[in-house]
Amino acid sequence: MNEQLQNDLKAELEDLEQKNLLWNPKTLEGPSCAKAKIAGKDVVMLCSNNYLGLSTNRLLKKAAVEAIRKYGAGSGSVRPIAGSMDLHLKLEETIARFKHTEDALYYNSGFTANSGAIPALLREGDVVISDSLNHGSIIDGVRLTKAERMIYQHRDMAELEMRLKEAQAKNPKRILIITDGVFSMDGDIAPLDQIVKLAQQYGACTYVDDAHGDGVLGENGRGIVSHFKLEGKVDMDMGTFSKGFGTMGGYIAGSKTLKKYLLNKSRTWLLTGSHPPGTVAASIASLELLEKSDKLVKKLWRNTKFFKKRLKELGFDTGISETPITPVMTYDEGKAAKMSQRLWEENVYALPIVFPMVAKGKARIRTMMSADHSKEDLEFAIDKITKIGKELELIK
Ligand SMILES: *Cc1c(COP(=O)(O)O)cnc(C)c1O
Repeated sequence: MNEQLQNDLKAELEDLEQKNLLWNPKTLEGPSCAKAKIAGKDVVMLCSNNYLGLSTNRLLKKAAVEAIRKYGAGSGSVRPIAGSMDLHLKLEETIARFKHTEDALYYNSGFTANSGAIPALLREGDVVISDSLNHGSIIDGVRLTKAERMIYQHRDMAELEMRLKEAQAKNPKRILIITDGVFSMDGDIAPLDQIVKLAQQYGACTYVDDAHGDGVLGENGRGIVSHFKLEGKVDMDMGTFSKGFGTMGGYIAGSKTLKKYLLNKSRTWLLTGSHPPGTVAASIASLELLEKSDKLVKKLWRNTKFFKKRLKELGFDTGISETPITPVMTYDEGKAAKMSQRLWEENVYALPIVFPMVAKGKARIRTMMSADHSKEDLEFAIDKITKIGKELELIK
């Protein structure tokens, strides 16, 4: 390797290390589930987005194995050239049925759905208005457009309206409002009903990223649009299979015209291979399971309510979350790092979230509930959090 490059990279890595920002992912020695084997230890997992425990569900695994037997390990590359498998089309039909939209387009990931669809939808002279705390994949998608960018403070509807007025004054062809549905750091929910109302008032289009609402919010986990009963009123309902749905892949649900347009215009769909049949079949099975039963969604919420209630009774500050994302606020960055490390020593896996992921002085441990946690898992985690909370003087 070029010596200069090697040295530059090393210097940047050292800088990250000094700031305590170096990622060093741990190794799972088995499935990702509530009780996982990680780096040689049996731990209670509190940092997975596998909200419903579907990644290890029997029906999903069975569907994947059968599809691999029938279709093989791979899909034969990019769909526009090599063709869609009937399985890919069936998944898109299933997404549309589940989300109550006309149709849907399945992307490799939520990240590539955002980074491909947003630039496809916006041209020079358009305006995009984005919540200040939107996900990085939205930010990257917006960076790839020639549209004018505006940001409103997180969930601030008065500021959104001001931006809409400013945008209108420029007489753009198109105004697009983009928001996360559930914000992953604090677990708060976008006021999508108000956003849609403002959009209608100002003739803007709407795009919601439902990554943390899929499988969590709404009827049978249908997501944020169902939660606010806004079916048919959000133009682009984007989401992912990598979290609550337990598999992998992004999608955009909406009109048939939208699908046809995006599959002709998004480079992250046109120029990349499609999912292997096993993943696609498991994704179909995931939605079919949720259509039949809301048992897992209900369990997720029971666990969430139990866990939050106990932590609050013990005196912890669990922030403003309205979802299974449950921050345990430490405020102090050092305490967040220490708490995570101590929890790990006590066989609980939960990560610290510090600046720049959240504002300075707003550090926390972020825990995530799942339907896969048993009452014992949660009691175990609560005991350890209590013990360490006392050590660090977060509670008395
Ligand atoms: C995780 C996440 C994504 C990315 O989804 P993947 O399918 O994992 O690439 C996009 N947006 C938000 C808000 C997310 O939390």
